[in-house]
Amino acid sequence: MKRYPTYIPVAEPNLGGNELKYVTDCVKSGWISSLGKYVGQFEENFATFCGSKYGISACNGTVAIHLALVALGIGRGDEVIVPSLTFVATANSVLYTGAKPVFVDSEMSTWNIDPSEIEKKITKKTKAIIVVHLYGHPAKMDEIMKIARKHNLSVIEDAAEAHGAMYKKKRVGSIADIGCFSFYGNKTLTTGEGGMITTNKKKLANDMRFLKDHAMSATKRYYHPKLGYNYRITNIEAALGVAQLEKAEVFLKKKREIALKYTKLLQDIPSLLFPPEESWAKNSYWMYSIVLKPGTKIRRANFMQKLKELNIDSRPFFIPNHTFPYFEGSKKKDQYPVATFLGANGVNLPSSVLLKNEQIEFISEAIHTLLQ
Ligand SMILES: *Cc1c(COP(=O)(O)O)cnc(C)c1O
Repeated sequence: MKRYPTYIPVAEPNLGGNELKYVTDCVKSGWISSLGKYVGQFEENFATFCGSKYGISACNGTVAIHLALVALGIGRGDEVIVPSLTFVATANSVLYTGAKPVFVDSEMSTWNIDPSEIEKKITKKTKAIIVVHLYGHPAKMDEIMKIARKHNLSVIEDAAEAHGAMYKKKRVGSIADIGCFSFYGNKTLTTGEGGMITTNKKKLANDMRFLKDHAMSATKRYYHPKLGYNYRITNIEAALGVAQLEKAEVFLKKKREIALKYTKLLQDIPSLLFPPEESWAKNSYWMYSIVLKPGTKIRRANFMQKLKELNIDSRPFFIPNHTFPYFEGSKKKDQYPVATFLGANGVNLPSSVLLKNEQIEFISEAIHTLLQ
């Protein structure tokens, strides 16, 4: 095969709507810090989009999770349950509080935390569970919420990769105590860098607003009754967010079309696993992903290298976090067989909303050539 004439990236933002207009408004008006009308507008619109009461913006998704944990009172001596197969920010945020992340394996049917493995990891020190809706597919929230209620644990949804995904009739981020989102440049909706927290609980919302703004007293300026943080987003980033949200439904529709097209073109390849979509779920397909089954004739690294030679970008799945030296170290592989398998064999394909049909066809043809 001849290489594609231009590079096809895994992710690329679509900034072709009102982004420039709103950002120009910030610059022209001088409102470029975290004060400015777009911040409140973005928070309100995003909360509405998720079906949550409150939206609290943050400067990125990682600190959004950290802030959520702090507001829930989690700190030194506590344990927080997290999936091993996720982006490192999930477990790192737990470490930032002084608490310990306790890893749980994934399940094949959703690629998310396996509810049947959670209870085994609960101890007297466990305070919370963070679920991750990996690559856009929701985790099994009912099962997880039931376990959490039984053991009196808080639940945070790390929905950084799942803007707009549906669990039954609800958008992710609106189901647990707190939802956390990222708007990093490669996410479904992006502000370059940025984050959001969603919740239905007024007290938590107020506490998080307070903590993210240096925990300054509302009645006495420059008096700080608690350790706070500066986790604010800028008006410029929020302006991008407002413009991105105007196109959220269009983006989600496009992501779904991309996914359906890939699956249609690739489904006759027996050595592939395709992205999950349970009957109760609506996958938001942040990244269209395939998994090379055991016995595939080409190794993953080689497969990705060959794609690259054809001008096709791809990403390996996340490496299960329990293997990192500052967590558990690499010795406990056999305890996380599903995370280990998916982490070693998964590949994210180009999934940008700017992707053209002809590019999906080219990529699919390349994959056929490499795997058959
Ligand atoms: C992107 C991401 C984050 C972190 O977001 P940043 O905005 O990059 O800090 C957290 N969790 C998951 C699962 C992510 O994919």
